[in-house]
Amino acid sequence: MKSMPGATPARFDNARAAVTRDAYIITCEHGGNEVPAAYAPLFVGHEALLPAHRGWDAGALALAQQLATACDAPLFAATTTRLLIDLNRSIGHRQLHSEATRALPLATRRGIQTQYYRPHRDAIESEVACLVASGRRVVHVASHSFTPELGGVVRRADVAWLYDPRRAGERALASQWLAALKHRRPDLKLRRNYPYEGKGDGLTAWLRKRHSEAVYVGVELEVNQRFVTAGGAAWTTLCADTVAALQSLKTASHTVHGTPQG
Ligand SMILES: [Zn+2]
Repeated sequence: MKSMPGATPARFDNARAAVTRDAYIITCEHGGNEVPAAYAPLFVGHEALLPAHRGWDAGALALAQQLATACDAPLFAATTTRLLIDLNRSIGHRQLHSEATRALPLATRRGIQTQYYRPHRDAIESEVACLVASGRRVVHVASHSFTPELGGVVRRADVAWLYDPRRAGERALASQWLAALKHRRPDLKLRRNYPYEGKGDGLTAWLRKRHSEAVYVGVELEVNQRFVTAGGAAWTTLCADTVAALQSLKTASHTVHGTPQG
């Protein structure tokens, strides 16, 4: 922020800091299914996986962009297929690499980590650390989407929020965002910690280990890909309503602060 001649910057900054203590960041770990040319031969025989849910989270990047614009928040997005390396898994996790890359020599896998994993993760980790160091509470929304059916089981949710139920701020954000969307769209099936548990391995779990719940709130937004497939108004209104629901909370940002329970 630039100081104005004749203003009293210190007092103004203090007042503003109190109002804007929450700093939003939006991320998208599975935003595309691009295969870097150097690694294209690895995907011979795995081509069918790339356009499917294994290859990427269809729709997640478009929604992330809308969230970032609406929240005036920075967006950190990756568009390389998760089959090369999964940016939402920790180094050493058995699902970090897929069947297309798991058997590669260690040096090659490390090269993939350096080129395609570290830039995304490091940028987010340092942004969160900087914001926390400057006294802000980070509200991190990671945009994802899930396949409507997996292994013959139909997922009974349209939009879901994954979070660590032990963290009051995350419970509050998920519950209030869900309620705000339910108010706009009573027709939608909205769920929490479904179809996965929010406390499992992932970027938000990684950041929770580094920052207390007082300064870090991390929630994964999960949208059913059936809306992306349907396209048209079904998809655009789902995005618009989901974004507007978050904006309504952000406007009344104090409501996102949860009360820790014993
Ligand atoms: Zn995802």
